Amino acid sequence: MQTHAKQVVALINQLPKKDELKFLEKQPGNKKIISETNQAFISVINGLRSLIGDVQTNSTTIPFKQIEETLDSFLENAAIQYDKMNKLSFVPKQPQVQKTNQAKPKDIYGFANVIQLNKLPFIPILKYKHYAQTELDQKIIEAQNNPQQFFEKYVIDEFTHPYYEEIMRLIPQDFVLEVPTKINRYRDLEPPIMINNADHLGELILKIQYEVDQNGYSEIAVDLEHNHQISYLGITCLIQLSTRTQDYIIDPFPLWKQLGEMLSVVFTNPRIVKVFHGADNDVQWLQRDFGLYIVNLFDTFHASKELQLMQNSFQFLLSEYCKKSTDKTYQTADWTQRPLSDEMIKYAQIDTHYLLYIYDRMRQDLKKLNKPNENINNIPNYYIENVLKRSKDTALKIYKKPLQDQDQSLQTILNKQDRRMDTKSFDLMVKLLELREELGIQYDQNPRYFLPNPFLFKLVESKPTTIQELKSQLGGDKNIHEIVKENLWQFLKVLLEFDEKVPTVNIIQEEQINTTQIQIEEIQPSLQVEPLKIVQISVNIKKFQNKNKNVVIHHFRNENVEQIQSQFYCESPFKLLNVFYDGLGTQIFQSMKEQSQQQKQQIEEAQQQRIEKINTSDFIQLPKLDEKNIDQQKDLDIRLNNTLQNQHGTKILKRHQKIEQQKTQKSNISNRFEIQ
Ligand code: AMP
Ligand code: MN
Ligand code: ZN
Repeated sequence: MQTHAKQVVALINQLPKKDELKFLEKQPGNKKIISETNQAFISVINGLRSLIGDVQTNSTTIPFKQIEETLDSFLENAAIQYDKMNKLSFVPKQPQVQKTNQAKPKDIYGFANVIQLNKLPFIPILKYKHYAQTELDQKIIEAQNNPQQFFEKYVIDEFTHPYYEEIMRLIPQDFVLEVPTKINRYRDLEPPIMINNADHLGELILKIQYEVDQNGYSEIAVDLEHNHQISYLGITCLIQLSTRTQDYIIDPFPLWKQLGEMLSVVFTNPRIVKVFHGADNDVQWLQRDFGLYIVNLFDTFHASKELQLMQNSFQFLLSEYCKKSTDKTYQTADWTQRPLSDEMIKYAQIDTHYLLYIYDRMRQDLKKLNKPNENINNIPNYYIENVLKRSKDTALKIYKKPLQDQDQSLQTILNKQDRRMDTKSFDLMVKLLELREELGIQYDQNPRYFLPNPFLFKLVESKPTTIQELKSQLGGDKNIHEIVKENLWQFLKVLLEFDEKVPTVNIIQEEQINTTQIQIEEIQPSLQVEPLKIVQISVNIKKFQNKNKNVVIHHFRNENVEQIQSQFYCESPFKLLNVFYDGLGTQIFQSMKEQSQQQKQQIEEAQQQRIEKINTSDFIQLPKLDEKNIDQQKDLDIRLNNTLQNQHGTKILKRHQKIEQQKTQKSNISNRFEIQ
């Protein structure tokens, strides 16, 4: 009953407040949902009212359970709906027009060379383990020394967590389990100590170390600020650290390359508890940017879960335990800017200033949860230990680069938004996502910011075929991000490739290249047969323009455009030409048709020749080379697997397995979408 009511209250808290509702109502499509929800809500309330009316006359049978369950499920639904609306409204209406030439911290402070801005899997960057119980994996060192070569040799997409053993073997420490009965109140806010050079950071580390030497342990609270807009991978912008007596704000930019090595003395020391709130992201950012790992983490988010608090945000804990509030607007501020304003510094400081006090209070509350009559009574610190266990899972999180597999990433987006797509649109969307991702790496910018997903969905729906149409779909010249503007034609190319009519000329040319290549590859290593040469015929626009102008214009006057187009099996390149030279494509399509027919004929002839030539040699009888390669690959994978078998957390996906997996995934997706 109690917990039921608690849940209902928690759900009500998730629903929009009046202002939020007003804001959400302005978003397209939301008004209808909100008014429908209102209607449903009113009818539930009315139903409950009449129920209570009945109850009063016959008060022995109050169906509390029923009432609660109805309310419960209704509110849960409403909360989910609200969440969805919220997510949609957070998507920027237009991409923010940013200057791509804005100087980045990596260039200003000279650490661009350590950022893994490439398509390879992420390689842990630590070089040395403090407080180690096992050696640093040789594979990591090998990959660090020569990334390109390493990934040509092994198919690994994730390395072992370097501190897996140290984290797993750590038993709950007395100084975490034992909570003083009298807790010192938090201190008043005073300006923090700013740290932006190695000397000062060294002093801080020695200070903490000194405390460990004196008391046998130490406690610190830590939080990070981050920017995920101005770079592809994202960047840690600030590290806030509070001890029992002082707040520190570390600027990581001028310390970038030394920071990990230095702070790991504190972060991996099991005698120092690291208190974070909601460290899931922080753990990964610390790995990515500094090679830092946390041994002995206490995450107050997990404590709030274990205590079943109504909300689990830091703001909620701050108001519950400290009766303080904090301004959320800075959460999404640009933390790369320097110097930071006093307000921003104060906001950042608050995130750790109260956290050790909250940690004390929460441990107290967790102790109180152990009631004498419960089975878990024989485990005296059951709840705190649960928090530590969950915190271990968080500390064991492994950073991975943004999803390279756009198939999978699109499926996730669709699932989240409860959206469906036919197979063809799905494939087109994947191609557009892939292009966007490549540009993200090329310009070192977050793809989701310079071209938000809703715009890509819009393109898939409207399938523009000219630059003009494309621009208008993307919100007009003024609103298009520079990066997109510079690459409009690339997007258009992808769109046109997916146009209804198959671009025959392109395909023929591709086939030509492929057949030539296959021949070279197959024949050269084993037999010294000269590869067959197939002459490539490129389309000479100028020639057509001059030669056939009259013919085409004549045709146009007399025939229905659509009829011509329906006969024409080369529509896409034709449209493509129109993009670059207005009207030129329409003028020359007839000639291109002839051209492609000629081409086709020539290829057929050439293929005939090729077949004849091969038939006269012994080539076909020889074992196929690529089959042998597969075996070699398998062999390598098995050997690799055996060597790494005993290591926890290392995922080795054999290449052929992965391909198989992707194949089945793909066919599952198509199966699902083809029905309807
Ligand atoms: P916090 O732990 O709340 O200080 O957040 C750390 C970082 O996460 C911030 O600097 C932001 O980059 C990001 N962040 C937190 N909350 C949000 C949010 N609601 N929307 C976007 N980014 C956020
Ligand atoms: Mn945080
Ligand atoms: Zn923060």
